[in-house]
Amino acid sequence: MISVATIAETRKLLEAARGEGKIVGVVPTMGFLHDGHVSLMAAARRECDLVMATIFVNPLQFGPGEDLDAYPRNFDGDAARCEAAGVDVLLAPSVAEMFPRPTLTQVSVPALANLLDGASRPGHFDGVATVVSKLFNISGPCRAYFGEKDWQQLQVITRMAGDLSFPVHVVGCPIIRETDGLAMSSRNVYLDEAHRGAARVLSRSLRAGVDAVASGETEAVAVRELVEEVIRAEPLAELDYVAVVDATMLEMVDKVGSNVRILVAATVGPARLIDNTDACSPGTLMGSST
Ligand code: AMP
Repeated sequence: MISVATIAETRKLLEAARGEGKIVGVVPTMGFLHDGHVSLMAAARRECDLVMATIFVNPLQFGPGEDLDAYPRNFDGDAARCEAAGVDVLLAPSVAEMFPRPTLTQVSVPALANLLDGASRPGHFDGVATVVSKLFNISGPCRAYFGEKDWQQLQVITRMAGDLSFPVHVVGCPIIRETDGLAMSSRNVYLDEAHRGAARVLSRSLRAGVDAVASGETEAVAVRELVEEVIRAEPLAELDYVAVVDATMLEMVDKVGSNVRILVAATVGPARLIDNTDACSPGTLMGSST
């Protein structure tokens, strides 16, 4: 594995690979890697000839008072994980390399970015779209792997890449969960034992929603209220939102059917957690709703 820290060196390596006819796969991350990130690397490894992982804690996507400074970091551990996952190139640029001067340019997909998590975290998805478009320009033609864990982010990036004709094929990968159903996240490290137990409520609530749909419930509002009820019953969780939406456009739906997604966000102690599922299929959700 080659570690690089500059845009120029990255371009040189990836252009050379494409010159040899290789398909380039890119896995953008903010580091503190877990098995969810590794699953993206594994997918890239299966489908591409050269795999580049990136580690960059992107300041543009953190709002005032959010956890930018506290965000967990472990470069040596991350590099070892990347190497074990078969990554060829690890790009870990400094903030000065990525943003040598304040960026005056912003990429935005307002119709998808200003609702749900974007409503709770104003500017967050503009920061994501801006840094990812920069990364796509650095990478050049490639396949880029993102997790369904961040469903709204995946829709924003997919739409951005299509609307702006980036030569990038965006690939979504399934959510990887702990054995009790909690979606893996770098932020789970913030949870103490009690909060870690309480955090299970997110996947449990989604399971309750999917079970209701499987039992014949078709009213989105009924599904939303049921999921909300499960989260509200957990005293250590503070509900942000439950939404039953069109999976691509993220607009509220009246009826649950195909291409409908249930999204949840809640704060559990020090961690703001998100999760989601296909409304008609439990996917990797574990356990039962009871
Ligand atoms: P992050 O480092 O949190 O910015 O995440 C980097 C990438 O890993 C994003 O595309 C995430 O959606 C993805 N990811 C994070 N957690 C998971 C998970 N539990 N399962 C699958 N993908 C994930």
